[in-house]
Amino acid sequence: MDVLIVLSHPERKSFNGALFDTAVETLTAAGHAVITSDLYRLDFDPVSSRANFKQQKNPDYFKPQLEEMHAAETGSFASELEAEIRKLEAADLVVFQFPLWWFGLPAILKGWVDRVFAMGRAYGSGRIYERGFFRGKRALLSLTTGGFQSSYVVGGEEGDIRGILRPIHRGIFQFTGFDVLAPNIVYGPVRVEEPQRRQWLNQWAQRLRSIESELPIEVGQYA
Ligand SMILES: Cc1cc2nc3c(=O)[nH]c(=O)nc-3n(C[C@H](O)[C@H](O)[C@H](O)COP(=O)(O)OP(=O)(O)OC[C@H]3O[C@@H](n4cnc5c(N)ncnc54)[C@H](O)[C@@H]3O)c2cc1C
Repeated sequence: MDVLIVLSHPERKSFNGALFDTAVETLTAAGHAVITSDLYRLDFDPVSSRANFKQQKNPDYFKPQLEEMHAAETGSFASELEAEIRKLEAADLVVFQFPLWWFGLPAILKGWVDRVFAMGRAYGSGRIYERGFFRGKRALLSLTTGGFQSSYVVGGEEGDIRGILRPIHRGIFQFTGFDVLAPNIVYGPVRVEEPQRRQWLNQWAQRLRSIESELPIEVGQYA
């Protein structure tokens, strides 16, 4: 498989960084072609703006989706954005590696989605969900939390983690046609001793060795 792993963590020596390294090493050793986007080290600009485009269809009134369609037709996305879109298009499996921030994606990663999942390249003209551009491809969230696993359940203090992740699973991945694999969630890595963290890294590696044969999960819709 061609695998794209997108890392979003400001500290390269973080536990997220270790999960990222584990994925790169394991998938490469298993014979997959791994490409990466380490967003902080790329100094990726997460702000979607006119700078997304080399030229604009309407310079007087900025309407992002119309400009995206125009850029898709004319090949005029800014080069650093075009490079990221091509990585996404080439991937059979996309992995997001990030710490849960405010119950969602860190801003740099959310902004990567805002810019890279562009109309005309990732969705549009009726190509959504089962007819999405990325049908046949798979996506997986690998995340860490500060909170305990026991609080991320129905009735727990934070609530069901599946509900918290649904906007990403449903509104980003399934919307654009991806099948969703079960998330890899490490709860509270900072709260345990190093042997436990090493064990979690080993479990992640073990799972990744057979990721090609995993089946997608049911995500469900909003109530
Ligand atoms: C803005 C913001 C919003 C947040 N919102 C939420 C929220 O909504 N919900 C929530 O639950 N939490 C939230 N948090 C907490 C956050 O999710 C956690 O702090 C984060 O997930 C922990 O992961 P980390 O990679 O940053 O851990 P780190 O602190 O980097 O790592 C934990 C430990 O692992 C060690 N480590 C690194 N590499 C290895 C290795 N190879 N082997 C063994 N150990 C290693 C590190 O040295 C460290 O001691 C928020 C934090 C911020 C800053």
